[in-house]
Amino acid sequence: MTEVLEKDVLAALKRVNDPDRGQDIVSLGMITGLSIREGHVGFAIEVDRARGPKLEPLRRAAEKAVETLPGVLSVSAVLTAEAMHGTPQPARGHGHAHGAPQAEKPAVPGVKFVIAVASGKGGVGKSTTAVNLALALAAIGRKVGVLDADIYGPSMPRMLGIAGKPSTRDGKTLEPMRNHGVACMSMGFLVAEDTPMIWRGPMVQSAISQMLRDVNWGELDVMVVDMPPGTGDAQLTMAQQVPLAGAVIVSTPQDIALMDARKGLNMFRKVNVPVLGFIENMSYFLCPHCGERTDIFSHGGARKEAEKLGTEFLGELPLDVAIRETSDSGRPIVVSQPDSPHAKVYKQIATRIWEQLSGAEHKAPRIVVQ
Ligand code: ADP
Repeated sequence: MTEVLEKDVLAALKRVNDPDRGQDIVSLGMITGLSIREGHVGFAIEVDRARGPKLEPLRRAAEKAVETLPGVLSVSAVLTAEAMHGTPQPARGHGHAHGAPQAEKPAVPGVKFVIAVASGKGGVGKSTTAVNLALALAAIGRKVGVLDADIYGPSMPRMLGIAGKPSTRDGKTLEPMRNHGVACMSMGFLVAEDTPMIWRGPMVQSAISQMLRDVNWGELDVMVVDMPPGTGDAQLTMAQQVPLAGAVIVSTPQDIALMDARKGLNMFRKVNVPVLGFIENMSYFLCPHCGERTDIFSHGGARKEAEKLGTEFLGELPLDVAIRETSDSGRPIVVSQPDSPHAKVYKQIATRIWEQLSGAEHKAPRIVVQ
């Protein structure tokens, strides 16, 4: 199969002009987050918010221009409104800007890779997936930390079966809490579960940044960040400010959840965080009595969507009461039933994620900024 090269994609896009500005969209620096994976091409076109609605023909023209290249299997272009004010932007590199956004954000000392587990909306099983993936990464021999950034509904204390308050040795940094071989920090340890909390934007940011930097995480291979659900400004800011090596997107198979998952993917692409892939949760129903499988929501939606969007499909987990009971009782299935088929799926996904992360250490990610 013909390999699709960044330079060819950019050359094709250079033939597309912005109708209002009379120059091509590459020279105008409108293309961001270009990703190419096995013939699947994705990118964003940055436009002024006000012009967005009338630029659909431009978006389609950009997709068409790339579709004609040999080796291209699918193209997904999205229009994104101009970046938010007051938040640091990834470097606008000239030509190749490998890893540019990462370089701008201070790394967390001792932590090799920070990854986000995100979802377009709440209730799809993001936290359940995050905890099982963290434990699966630990099961394959990695040193793992879990940062519960879902400050609106912190669930890691319960899912990891940890109670109590973190201690401090030096009065400045907190010691993370630990169970099942992973370190964890969560707002849930610091405020009582029934304390209503109203979080405003800057507070969210400072809470997360303190949990990231003022905690004695020690040496970690991977820090798994359980993101707040959704794709609003808080999530976008976090995606920009946390030095993420990649993001995993959890979705259920229904169309509506998938549309939100697509928004999640675009959000990370926009800030040049590589999307490691999609996971389909509650993919089908496994009857606890007879073991029969039922596809309640048309199963397989996330796989198709991932293919369409040029990102990897990492795996699927059924709706199974065993997954709920184990994580809700503080002993997620990866540790309580390590040889079960579900635990194996989580471990396969963890292995694939680790491959992607450790591979990226030697090979710069295929991401181009403008
Ligand atoms: P989110 O973080 O997306 O809001 P949670 O991980 O908190 O979602 O999951 C919501 C509820 O669904 C929890 O009670 C959880 O135990 C349950 N759940 C999540 N995934 C599954 C699954 N695959 N099978 C059964 N129950 C699940």
